[in-house]
Formats: sequence, C-alpha cells, structure tokens
Amino acid sequence: MGRVKGKVALITGGARGLGEATGRVMADEGATVILTDVLDAEGEAVAKDITANGGKAVYYNQDVTDEGRWAELTRKIVADHGRLDVVVNNAGIVLDANVEDTTLEGWRRVNAINSEAVFLGTREAIRVMKDQDPRGGSIVNLSSIAGLVGIDNLAAYNASKGAVRLFTKSAALHVAKAGYGIRVNSVHPSYTWTPMVQHLGDNTGDRDAFYQALAQAHPIGRPGESMDIAWGVLYLASDESSWVTGSELVIDGGITAA
Ligand code: NAD
Repeated sequence: MGRVKGKVALITGGARGLGEATGRVMADEGATVILTDVLDAEGEAVAKDITANGGKAVYYNQDVTDEGRWAELTRKIVADHGRLDVVVNNAGIVLDANVEDTTLEGWRRVNAINSEAVFLGTREAIRVMKDQDPRGGSIVNLSSIAGLVGIDNLAAYNASKGAVRLFTKSAALHVAKAGYGIRVNSVHPSYTWTPMVQHLGDNTGDRDAFYQALAQAHPIGRPGESMDIAWGVLYLASDESSWVTGSELVIDGGITAA
C-alpha cells in the first residue's frame, strides 16, 4: 500500500484493458487517478467503482490525437489537484493487417493514436512537470514487443510501437540533461488478454483456439493478464524506479528471450 501515495496520475485509454488495470492498482497504491478515454460510459464506470472502493479517481473524455485537448486537460488537472506527477501514455489501437493489406488511411490512424499522441502526451507532461514544485515526474509510454520484433500481420502497429521505443529514449535523454527531474520509460508487453487481443482472436474465427495458441507460444505457458503489465507500470510510476530512465521494460512471458 502507498507505493504512489499522494501522486497525481493521468492514464490515457483508462476505460478498459491495461489502462483500467493500471488505474485500479495506482489508486489502490494511493494515487489520485485521472482516467481518460473515448469510451465514456466504460470510463465513468471504472472511475465510479474505484471511488466506491475508497480510491480517488475521475474520468474525462479525451481523444489523445487532439493537441488542444492535451493542454486543456492538463490545465484542469493542475487547477483541480495542484500538480501532475505521472502520465501513462497507454491509449492505443491495433490494425490486423500485413504491409500489402494496409491502407494509407489505416497506417495514419494507427500511427496517429499509438505514436503521434505519445509525443503529444510526453511533450505536455514535460511542460507541466518541469515547472512544478517539487519539480519532476514520471512518464510511461506503452510500446509493445511489436516495438522490438517484427510481426507479419501488424505492419502499421509495428511501426508505431517501434517509434514509441526510440522516441521515449530521446525524450528521456533531453529531460535528464535539462535537469528537470523527469523520467521517461517504455513498457513492452506481449499478447495480454485484453479486449484488444480478444478482438485479434475473434478475427481468426476461433477466440479459444487463439488463446491456446498464445499459451503455447509463450515460454511461461500463458498469455499475459492485465495486472502483469499494470505492476510494471506502477513500478515505473513510483519513486522505486528513480534511477530508471530511457529504459524498456519487457513484460512478455519470455517470448522475446528466444
Ligand atoms: P484495449 O483496446 O483493451 O484498450 C485501449 C483503450 O484505448 C480503449 O479503452 C480505447 O477506447 C482507448 N483508445 C483508443 N483510441 C483512443 C483515442 N484516440 N483516444 C483516447 N483513447 C483511445 O487495449 P489494451 O490491450 O488495454 O492496450 C493498451 C495499450 O497497450 C495500447 O497502447 C496497446 O497497443 C498496448 N499493448 C497491448 C498489448 C496487449 O497484448 N493487450 C500488448 C502490447 C502493447
């Protein structure tokens, strides 16, 4: 208890999946959690449930690709809560398509949400965190094992997640050299059983067989659960990781070890 006590944390894509799990564990560990998403009913329900269980959480609508909304929202968070300690750039989409089947429109959409919006969120977080008192904070960017290795049916997604990996290192170096007290890290999950991956399973025509195939593919013998990833994000958000920046936390059941 209390691993992020007193911190104010913004988690994008917080209505379900990894963002929801991260919001719940951060609230359990003492943070004030601001969940944002485009799925308003789901996001409101998660925030309400966290609050009903004694945590501190609010939900706001935010399309992460909207530059103006980032500034508006962070101003509101600072006005309401005094500061912003943690930003988890988690919102993301997947496009189940190889390079030949990927349209330019699909490519741009995936890269706008998964990559460009991570830049917007990181830049906005730095703007707030560098000038607050006490100064600093932690930015956690969701990449993927698809930011480390190629996957044939995830061409645009691969590109977006690879971009997040190296952009994170660039931002981490900049803020470290500037002495802002801000850390920036990326997280690289393998297939984790969230709505996103269940949808990939549905695309194969047999969700259960897809689950079994994932279990076999991972050396640990199962796909990930949302909490497997949320614990990693919690560590990077907390002061336990105060000497960790520009790093890539791989949480993948061993699949990229081979
Ligand atoms: P999910 O689809 O279950 O949840 C993603 C959330 O992001 C949804 O609530 C969705 O509404 C929200 N979102 C999508 N577009 C948005 C936008 N423009 N603005 C605001 N919110 C938006 O997915 P998940 O599995 O929980 O994935 C979370 C993150 O983790 C993503 O960045 C994903 O790429 C990454 N990731 C997931 C896995 C996995 O196996 N589940 C593996 C590696 C990386």
